[in-house]
Amino acid sequence: VNELSLIRKIRRLKGARGIGDDCAVIPMTSGNALLTTDLLIEGVHFERETHKASDVGWKALARGLSDIAAMGGEPRQCLVSLALAPWNIARWVDGFYRGLLALAQRERVALVGGDVSRAPQFVCDIVVVGTVPSGAQLLRSGARPQDAIYVSGELGGAGLGLARRAGRAWRRHVRPEPRVALGKFLRGRATAAMDVSDGLALDLHRLCLESGVSAELEGPLPLFPGATRAQGLGGGDDYELLFTAPLSTPIPARLRGLRLTRIGRIRQGKPGSLSDEGRPLRITGWDPFSRP
Ligand SMILES: [Mg+2]
Repeated sequence: VNELSLIRKIRRLKGARGIGDDCAVIPMTSGNALLTTDLLIEGVHFERETHKASDVGWKALARGLSDIAAMGGEPRQCLVSLALAPWNIARWVDGFYRGLLALAQRERVALVGGDVSRAPQFVCDIVVVGTVPSGAQLLRSGARPQDAIYVSGELGGAGLGLARRAGRAWRRHVRPEPRVALGKFLRGRATAAMDVSDGLALDLHRLCLESGVSAELEGPLPLFPGATRAQGLGGGDDYELLFTAPLSTPIPARLRGLRLTRIGRIRQGKPGSLSDEGRPLRITGWDPFSRP
């Protein structure tokens, strides 16, 4: 089993509808609601020995906000369900909510509910609700041949941080910044968008599969200082936005200080296939099922 094949199977089940983007889009009487859910599990997404409680709380919400940003939405509310492990003392749980609510307050997101239970290891499931005007949501499926491919910020910082466990790169790993303002800016500009949560190569592969196109990377990637190209392509956890737009659509080099870099071009070709300066690119990235 791997993540893509499992999701493909779930999408074919009777009663499943509209699965495949960063959020579900629910039509409302005015505009759309966006819903996304994310798991954060001890031993899979973080280690109790190295990750501070407040950082785990921050990241739990940041991952959901990043999915809302990827769809061009405005995050509004969240629901947080926790399964506490025997080692989760009250002080740790306080720290978790302190980190989560610091980000929630900054982004004007209300914590409106959830559930608590226990389990052998700590598990958090977060649901984030957002809104987007009708027809303005950004999907993975709109990329067209000749569109330019862009990515925000710098790649590979979180992967480097995981290797170094210290400094600015580690902070990048434990406190990702959801790109909500950029997502809103891309409404009506981007033809497709998603967040880079599992690695640029794997996420671009997914975007291309949904759009039925292939992609060619051209030129240098905007790498985090010290990160390797391999970390930029497959490191994951960067939570930048990956998007496509026609060449005729002006995209600034920076948006409120955030770098926006053109990294390639959408091509007609085998859906999901990637190339790098004309050579086939191996699809690397984070899959929860490929690790022990
Ligand atoms: Mg996502």
